[in-house]
Amino acid sequence: MDIGFIGLGHMGFPIARRLVAAGHRVAAFDTRAEALDRLAALGANPASSPKEVADAADTVLASLPSPAAALDVAAGVAEGDRVARYVDLSTVGTHTAVRIHGLLAEHDIAAIDCPVSGGVGGAEAGTLALMVSGPRPEFDVLRPVLETIGRPMHVGEQPGSAQTMKLANNILAATVLVATSEVVVMGVKSGLDPEVMIDVLNASSGATSASRDKFPRAILPRTFDYGFATGLMVKDVRLYLDEAKALGVPVEIAEAVRRLWEATLAEEGADSDFTSAIKPMERAAGITVGARRKRE
Ligand code: NAD
Repeated sequence: MDIGFIGLGHMGFPIARRLVAAGHRVAAFDTRAEALDRLAALGANPASSPKEVADAADTVLASLPSPAAALDVAAGVAEGDRVARYVDLSTVGTHTAVRIHGLLAEHDIAAIDCPVSGGVGGAEAGTLALMVSGPRPEFDVLRPVLETIGRPMHVGEQPGSAQTMKLANNILAATVLVATSEVVVMGVKSGLDPEVMIDVLNASSGATSASRDKFPRAILPRTFDYGFATGLMVKDVRLYLDEAKALGVPVEIAEAVRRLWEATLAEEGADSDFTSAIKPMERAAGITVGARRKRE
């Protein structure tokens, strides 16, 4: 199948690589020439703009870092001669997804929201959770392509509803990462071994996606290289709060979580890995969390 792919970052590159490896003809574009060259070396056809990608394929996928970039790219794709459906894998929020849907509808292009969960590891392994909203017949056409990169779940026909689902997931992921970090800092300050703490939590009712995955992979070894930027996490927390407030629902936990993430952004920077959220807490507590036991 001819597929277009725009945005070859932490997530987009391994997703696009899987599509190339599965035998699809992939026309690709990224504003970073280096990423485009790397994918071209694996067999993709480099394009010079989103429009050129959309001239070359019926189905165009994109994985972009912000609502502004997603809107820009969608505007370029809308000018394409061949594209019939546009699948946005980015987390952009419901409002932007609805705008993109409207923009593409004027050109008879179907917009499918498909935000993903599972991180760089899931993108590499093809095990992402894919939250899809848009017309059911388009979902059925796309399913074989999506199954190359993960597990597609149709959450509704309404434009943007998969974005709402994704923000619900991400506020929980953001919450358990800072909550688990706060608890481990407390334990280490009291003299507990952080690696023992994580082992016990993972066998107990306090286990979270942070204790199971982020701590062993990037915090205890102090590599802080999970592959998701603090700036992107803050984007998602802000988008969640904007939407929740517009709906008039309670946001007490989300507000507390937002303060912690804004502090991480201010102290560690937008490009820091999001596992760095523990560092401001460590500084405030005057301790460092790291593996003390030798790993078997
Ligand atoms: P990233 O910053 O690593 O990658 C974004 C890519 O888009 C970069 O290669 C950049 O050069 C390119 N780009 C930016 N503007 C562009 C434009 N106008 N035209 C073409 N290319 C452009 O981001 P990422 O971590 O890969 O995340 C991408 C999306 O996936 C985000 O919306 C993020 O919230 C979401 N997401 C990320 C993860 C993760 O673990 N990294 C997990 C789930 C969802």
